[in-house]
Amino acid sequence: MRKPIIAGNWKMYKTPNESVAFIETFLPLIAGHDRDEILIFPPFTSLAAAIIAADDHNLRAGAQNMHWLNEGPYTGEISPIMLMSIGCRHVLLGHSEQRLYFNETDERVNLKLKAAVNHGLTPIVCVGETLTEREDGRTEETIRRQIRIALRNISAAEAHRLVVAYEPVWAIGTGSTATPDIAEAAHRIVRHELADCCSEQTAEATRILYGGSVKPENISDLMAQPNIDGALVGGASLVPETFARIVHYT
Ligand code: PEP
Repeated sequence: MRKPIIAGNWKMYKTPNESVAFIETFLPLIAGHDRDEILIFPPFTSLAAAIIAADDHNLRAGAQNMHWLNEGPYTGEISPIMLMSIGCRHVLLGHSEQRLYFNETDERVNLKLKAAVNHGLTPIVCVGETLTEREDGRTEETIRRQIRIALRNISAAEAHRLVVAYEPVWAIGTGSTATPDIAEAAHRIVRHELADCCSEQTAEATRILYGGSVKPENISDLMAQPNIDGALVGGASLVPETFARIVHYT
């Protein structure tokens, strides 16, 4: 029912030339692979080149962030119509590095999510607790709040393209992955909150990805969990052969 998504978040890595070189090596490694949707999220300067290089293949390139307005005096920002105009159809929203280092808020994620659905972009909304929140027993409260505010005034119809990535902050770039049981428990919380603030149908249909130190060695155990519908991969998505091994999980 829910087609899995394996997505690579390249963060602030790879020039346009490096992105195209990655794609040229990667495409033969995933030739004919249709079981999962395969996405990469290059930096803005590499996005157009990546979209062109991936064109007509089983790979799509999306944006790591965007503003919610179409245009305006907002130096350094990129708008949804700018993304659409280069053929971009996917956008990450609320990544923990944006929340942590650039003061991204739940309220702004909500504005961006509304803009994404209005423009026909597929949003991947990132949620997840910090180590302190987990140690204080506030994991569930944090995840529920992030989902609830992100989805404020979004109808079930508008949420039909929504994808959520559960990324515990303590597992991102640290090498320590959540165990499949911990991840599965958090994904169930995400699904319950989606049912509460949207609909049962939305909750059942929404793909929930796990992110946080995913590697070829741990992807299969994570994907075996019933509520894990894919992965958002940072560091391990930067090398074509490694990312391809993740795509070919068993
Ligand atoms: C990420 O940046 O979304 C991520 C999950 O990073 P990593 O896989 O490197 O932990």
